[in-house]
Amino acid sequence: LVHAVNVTKSFGDNQVLKGIDMDVHKGEVVCFLGPSGSGKTTFLRCINQLETINGGRIWVDGELMGYADKGGVLHRLHDKEIARQRREIGMVFQRFNLFPHKTVLDNIIEAPVQVKGEKKAEVTVRAKELLERVGLADKPLAYPGQLSGGQQQRVAIARALAMRPKLMLFDEPTSALDPELVGEVLTVMRELAKEGMTMIVVTHEMAFARDVADRVVFMDGGVVVEQGDPKQVINNPQHERTQTFLRRMQ
Ligand code: ATP
Repeated sequence: LVHAVNVTKSFGDNQVLKGIDMDVHKGEVVCFLGPSGSGKTTFLRCINQLETINGGRIWVDGELMGYADKGGVLHRLHDKEIARQRREIGMVFQRFNLFPHKTVLDNIIEAPVQVKGEKKAEVTVRAKELLERVGLADKPLAYPGQLSGGQQQRVAIARALAMRPKLMLFDEPTSALDPELVGEVLTVMRELAKEGMTMIVVTHEMAFARDVADRVVFMDGGVVVEQGDPKQVINNPQHERTQTFLRRMQ
């Protein structure tokens, strides 16, 4: 579903991605691990074009992201086209980014109605189903400020799912939460994985990566150092940098 080839990205002189090759198959759950600053977040943001890459190519479901290829020469797409591509990809951030002045239900239906032009009544039915799925069936009329961090993050997941994405990107979705609220968000993500959603998850939750991921990717210094079966990579890392990182995590 995701096919990335030799992706590079710099911020000024700082080359953050130094040639990333990555394939993610339909239904696969891939967890990205690695020290702070290794480029994990940046790579996620490149996939859905929140960042413009400097080199390489990224395809999602066969579609080249951000560019049109005209005889081998890349032309940047118009913002409107990029927005259309981005709609196919759900993203959940560390901070929940809900609209504070809208109810939970309105947060969820906003994009399908405003951006996709779907009928409000239909989206509302779907939104309520999604709220049930994330364990918040009783909260459609609450405002984000009345919810815990874990509940807000579950709303953010429901909101992303309301767009019926092909792919879900999670950027450290539990790292801003109090420890006792982490579990409820991971449970929702586990369910989603079980249902066959394709997911790329940047996380420091080793237990989640070990239990849920089909593959773990370890990044350091803008490159993929090591990847493979979660138990293999986490319990028996081959590369010294992975070993050092995992030792520090314990
Ligand atoms: P973390 O776990 O801390 O989120 P990460 O592996 O996700 O780390 P990135 O957030 O991708 O790392 O950051 C990689 C590098 O890119 C860092 O050195 C960061 O300072 C830099 N960087 C990220 N975004 C920007 C930006 N918008 N402008 C300038 N530098 C940036």
